[in-house]
Amino acid sequence: MTTYTDVNGSERPLAATQFESTNARHAFPCYDDPGKRATFKVTINHSPTYTAISNMPVYETESTSGKTVFETTVNMPTYIVAFIVSDFKYSEGELNGLKQRVYSRPGSVDEQEWGLLSGMLITQRLAEYFEIDFMLPKLDQAAIPNKGGAMENYGLATYGEQYMLYNRDLSTVNTQTAIANIIGHEIGHQWFGDYVTIQWWTYLWLKEGFAQLFSYKATDDAFPEWGIWQQFQTDEYQAALTSDASDKPRPMTHYVQTAAEISSLYDDVSYAKAGSVLHMWNHALTDAVFKRGLHNYLDANKFTSAVEDDLFNALQIAAKEENHPIPARIEDMLRSWTQQGGYPVLTVSRNYDDGSFTVAQQSFHNNENTKSDKLWYIPINYASQSNADFRNTAASEFLLNVSSIKVDAKLSKDDWLILNKQSTGFYRINYDDKNWKLIVEGLHDKPYKVHPLNRAQLMHDAYRFSISNRLQHSTLLEMLPYLVEEDQYAPWATAKGIFDTFHRFLIYHSNYEYFQRYLAYIVEPVYEKFGVHEDSGEQHYHKFTRNIIIHLAWMADVKTCQQEVRKKFEAELNNVVAIEPNLRSQFYCLALKDATSTEFNYVFDKLMNTNDQALRNSFISSLGCAENPEQLNKFFSSSIDTGNKLRSPERLTILSAAYSRSQAGLYAAIEFLNNNWQAYGELAIGSNKPLDAAIRGMSSYVVKSDQETKLLELVDKVKESAYVNSDLETVVKSRIQDNYNWLKANRDPIMSWMLNFRNSGSASLTLSLVSLTSALVIVVFRLF
Ligand SMILES: [Zn+2]
Repeated sequence: MTTYTDVNGSERPLAATQFESTNARHAFPCYDDPGKRATFKVTINHSPTYTAISNMPVYETESTSGKTVFETTVNMPTYIVAFIVSDFKYSEGELNGLKQRVYSRPGSVDEQEWGLLSGMLITQRLAEYFEIDFMLPKLDQAAIPNKGGAMENYGLATYGEQYMLYNRDLSTVNTQTAIANIIGHEIGHQWFGDYVTIQWWTYLWLKEGFAQLFSYKATDDAFPEWGIWQQFQTDEYQAALTSDASDKPRPMTHYVQTAAEISSLYDDVSYAKAGSVLHMWNHALTDAVFKRGLHNYLDANKFTSAVEDDLFNALQIAAKEENHPIPARIEDMLRSWTQQGGYPVLTVSRNYDDGSFTVAQQSFHNNENTKSDKLWYIPINYASQSNADFRNTAASEFLLNVSSIKVDAKLSKDDWLILNKQSTGFYRINYDDKNWKLIVEGLHDKPYKVHPLNRAQLMHDAYRFSISNRLQHSTLLEMLPYLVEEDQYAPWATAKGIFDTFHRFLIYHSNYEYFQRYLAYIVEPVYEKFGVHEDSGEQHYHKFTRNIIIHLAWMADVKTCQQEVRKKFEAELNNVVAIEPNLRSQFYCLALKDATSTEFNYVFDKLMNTNDQALRNSFISSLGCAENPEQLNKFFSSSIDTGNKLRSPERLTILSAAYSRSQAGLYAAIEFLNNNWQAYGELAIGSNKPLDAAIRGMSSYVVKSDQETKLLELVDKVKESAYVNSDLETVVKSRIQDNYNWLKANRDPIMSWMLNFRNSGSASLTLSLVSLTSALVIVVFRLF
């Protein structure tokens, strides 16, 4: 039971279920186990002024006013049973004989169209891909106010409003994309999870990994012009590579028993990593084999539950049916990924005399001193400068549980070599120094010969290797200026991650301006191309990329950017012309860094007065950019003022919007919690501990000793309270130490390289950087 605020500001009651993983038992007596199935006949008695919906259509003959009876369900597990009693309104569509509805609160029906359309298209594409029609008589999607995520209840998927409601005039391209993406996830589950369930939570990845993969694969099928794999690269693949590299990563298949253990599995390993590993085998085995394998798996296990071996068997049969040769048994190859944690790094050493190269594998850990003797079955392929064809992503070679192989590639000695076409293999790749040099030269000379997903990954790997003693910093720093010629989303999103990290660690350096100069050299010409106004008809992800470019140009102290941002912000403030929805959050953020209280309040009031969840989230994010202590204090205080219009989950996002953005935000957040830690601790929803989470979060941003002192004083004050976990102090200290280690290992090499860049680069900065590529290459290589 919950309530929401309607358009007139009144509280309206609402009942909506969320049973996964172990909550159906609180609604009715049952064997609450994903491996057990039953049919359910749901009957709900409710006030006649409300309506009830559930997994199945209403059984009209037995229903009366105030009593809704539903048709008996198919055989299904308890955690995907659902019902909602509400005053929601719906819109309806039908495609290929399947009726679909979107439900949401009154007053938002106009915002249901995109969710309805995307839902119908995605359902149809998935049914075509699996060659299995959707199996229930109807499919509803409901937008639930104040809900965080989304849930795949069979025939009645539920979503937080920000993942379902789209306003043509106000919503952003991010919201539009996120809606299609989450719909792909939840509707993907209707097959992977609902039709075929996992036998036990140990195999959570077997439904979540597929749902995560199909959130992109189905969206790409429905909206191919978007190019959504660029977002998969940064949000799933790179995120998983970063998080799955601890000293002791857990395997995808991981035995659990208690409710707490089960809930700990809802992490990057079950979602982003499992999705990426499935994506790798999708490409390595070819889409024909993968598609047939999934059909076989779904068909053989329908209306029952499965374990990973059922998937492996189905793929094995599919390879045979498609006459696709495989070098080892599928179960051996895939188990090496599902039953051991982490992933490998491949080390490539070329023989420049005979054109061959060797590939060696080792377990990869962010900490270079951590070793293990794990081996994987690894599919690989490669492209070279003379044969820069990145289209065929099937495996051309395998490392079959061996530490290295030699490939007689007959490469020309002056060609670059790049493994892992389109970056579909879930591993990192390190090359010998000469090949790195050839790659860097190739990127500067003809960047478009290298696939954009590989361009992104080369930076991502080079960064990670350079901060862990595996590669010279100069390789990365020489590579990044190729971005002058870059306009694609995945490479720029990757670069943003790197530049943001540099900024965070280097901001207190007395020569911080060297970094800004280097960044300006790279980003200014690109900023000139992208500009600050949206172009109608431009490519989907261009709109995302512009925000990154503006963010970085501001960071680099590019004056024209700062002037143009202020100008557009003031024009909106004075009611001359509004900023485009896709740019609004970024512009508000930058303008608020140094804003008057009138300007700050303009955005603050927008937050308080809109009902649109996605917009509300974006305003919170922008307000976090303020650096004025008084404004920050007003913003933070709103989180604990439970009489205002903030919604409970939003209160917990306010501090991090600021401390993750600026040093001013970090100092102000520490001070605020010093004075208000009990009130903040009281904001807990369910079993979470917001005070604990905030302090842990802040510790990742501590880069100097007075910040450390202040934060540890706060920890000392709260560590005995029930608002925090007992390991808080240990975790905080270890995160701060990690940051000091980063500084110790990286600050000097990076800054001395930047100093050289500054000294030898000043002449080139006066040149027109958007001139001919070849001219640029000469300039760049003279510098380094
Ligand atoms: Zn899911």
